[in-house]
Amino acid sequence: MTCPPITITFLGTGTSSGVPMIGCECEVCTSTDKKDNRLRSSILVQSARTTLVVDTGPDFRYQMLRQKVKHLDAVLFTHPHKDHLAGLDDIRAYNFFTKAPIDIYADSLTEEAVRRDFYYAFTDTKYPGIPELNMHTITLEPFVVGDIPVTPILVWHLKMPVMGFRFGHFTYITDANRIDEAEKDKIRGSEVLVVNALRKQKHISHFTLGEAVDLAGELGVPEAYFTHISHQLGLHAAIEAELPDHIHLAWDGLELSFK
Ligand SMILES: [Zn+2]
Ligand SMILES: [Zn+2]
Repeated sequence: MTCPPITITFLGTGTSSGVPMIGCECEVCTSTDKKDNRLRSSILVQSARTTLVVDTGPDFRYQMLRQKVKHLDAVLFTHPHKDHLAGLDDIRAYNFFTKAPIDIYADSLTEEAVRRDFYYAFTDTKYPGIPELNMHTITLEPFVVGDIPVTPILVWHLKMPVMGFRFGHFTYITDANRIDEAEKDKIRGSEVLVVNALRKQKHISHFTLGEAVDLAGELGVPEAYFTHISHQLGLHAAIEAELPDHIHLAWDGLELSFK
């Protein structure tokens, strides 16, 4: 199945604390450049028929309001960390308007966390107004959401398996510091790779800026954008100027279109 034309919108490009971080007065957290304000990482993927989000972090409600997303078909989860999961309860607004459950796609690890953290959505006696979720357990088998084909890509976040996703010519990887050789083949041929680049200093579970640049080079993608960025990385404009021409920092609100 071929991917229809899709548009990607970055809803958030920040690490778990967001940028600015509460209480921080560093030059990035106090910057007046809008591109230095980063909500928790998430993207919107839209075709003419289908709208989905990857992850529902703590900023999910505000991201949907800011982007004026009136209709949502599905949520795909990368992994169960709170900065990717915490906002799921606000899916209720879409249940209210469509009077139908929302399709959730998660691997077994994330499904377990969703069922634990949002237990009240899975009890037999449901009180009115709780989120209505239609859980789909995913593996590494490709699947289809509406008219958008999705290829899961297994990446490693220290020891936690995380799902990256390829949609046609676009690949999105948000929390990783290692990718097995066989999975790299699923990324090759993408027109655009999005991958996490936390900061310049080594980190236990995230690619650094240098590691992300190297990965983009190794995979031979024509264009790469970095996300899940910490205030420790530095000012958007300063880091962007250091990067090769085909590699960029993503920012909140950035849109990419694929034919
Ligand atoms: Zn994260
Ligand atoms: Zn994480």
